[in-house]
Amino acid sequence: MKQELINVAKGKTGHYGRSEGEEDLVEAIIDREAKKNSVKLSKEDITIMQGSSEGVFFLYAAGLEAGDEVLLPGPGYPSYIQLAQFFGGATPSYRCVEENGWQPDIDDIRKKITDKTKFLVVINPNNPTGAIYSKSTLKKIVDVAAEHKITLVSDEIYDQLIYGETEYFGLASLAKDVPVVVLNGFSKAYLMPGWRIGYVYFHDPVDALIDLREGVNALARQRLSANTLIQKVCAKAFSGPQDHIKEMNRKLKERAEFAYKRLNEINRISTTKPEGAFYIFPRVDLSNRWKDDNEFCIDVLRSTGIVFPYGSGFDPVYGKDHFRSIILPPIETLERAFQKLEAFMKKA
Ligand code: PLP
Repeated sequence: MKQELINVAKGKTGHYGRSEGEEDLVEAIIDREAKKNSVKLSKEDITIMQGSSEGVFFLYAAGLEAGDEVLLPGPGYPSYIQLAQFFGGATPSYRCVEENGWQPDIDDIRKKITDKTKFLVVINPNNPTGAIYSKSTLKKIVDVAAEHKITLVSDEIYDQLIYGETEYFGLASLAKDVPVVVLNGFSKAYLMPGWRIGYVYFHDPVDALIDLREGVNALARQRLSANTLIQKVCAKAFSGPQDHIKEMNRKLKERAEFAYKRLNEINRISTTKPEGAFYIFPRVDLSNRWKDDNEFCIDVLRSTGIVFPYGSGFDPVYGKDHFRSIILPPIETLERAFQKLEAFMKKA
């Protein structure tokens, strides 16, 4: 990628580009989504974003009125909560069941849908739990959305980082007649988060998302264009060799298994095993020693120097009494951190 950027940048001044995205990247995405998810997209269905986060921002800006509800996975990636609230939206969350590998609870989704629910968000693979949602769960989510005519939003940014038993399905691949807005990008599998390119696509078999798509594109035009040179590199990322991803998943599987085993050995900590992305989300028994998971994480940081984001930040109800750890570093580094955590828990 770095060499590609040098090649692309040679002799270029860097121009504003097409606001919805450079044609070669859009074509690469059409191709990729057809192959990976059997989704047939046209050029107009795709908008390139400066990171998928910009996609969430534009989607909410275009689609939310104050008082609307965004039904979110609990736990889930915090930006979906904070950005919805920025636009005056409410953010109820549906339960993902730890004892069931953090799979979404379909009955809870049903219970929490109201006439104000605007978007039903799925984050799969999930940050922070590392869960991969089963095909049958995803199909049920699609059915619920169809029944209530709610727009599905599917964050698939970790869709290439899959190393567990559960088979991965992109949501649009299971939603033949149901509209889905999909967010994806290059930050994770291509290890280029700071290069800030992502995309949103509108899988819209019944023409229900035309206004939303136009709203998002109007905002894209206001910010002129995403980084044009990096878009060229991203087009090559999709069409070039993908061997590094296999290797990355091999390492992640090893590290997930190690972290699962090691964390479960520690006093008052228990965890499920992640199957995708690069996180693990253990439960901690606070036992009157700490007021909440936030206080626990601050105490761990002060005593050991290790930063674990606190669970309630990922959902005030379904994330509490948890913390998140990354599993990206080599096993020796993870072991050093877990040893420190183990000693801390013994003393606490
Ligand atoms: N979505 C999820 C689920 C994430 O975990 C993250 C980053 O951690 C993002 C989106 C942000 O992605 P981007 O770099 O494309 O804005």
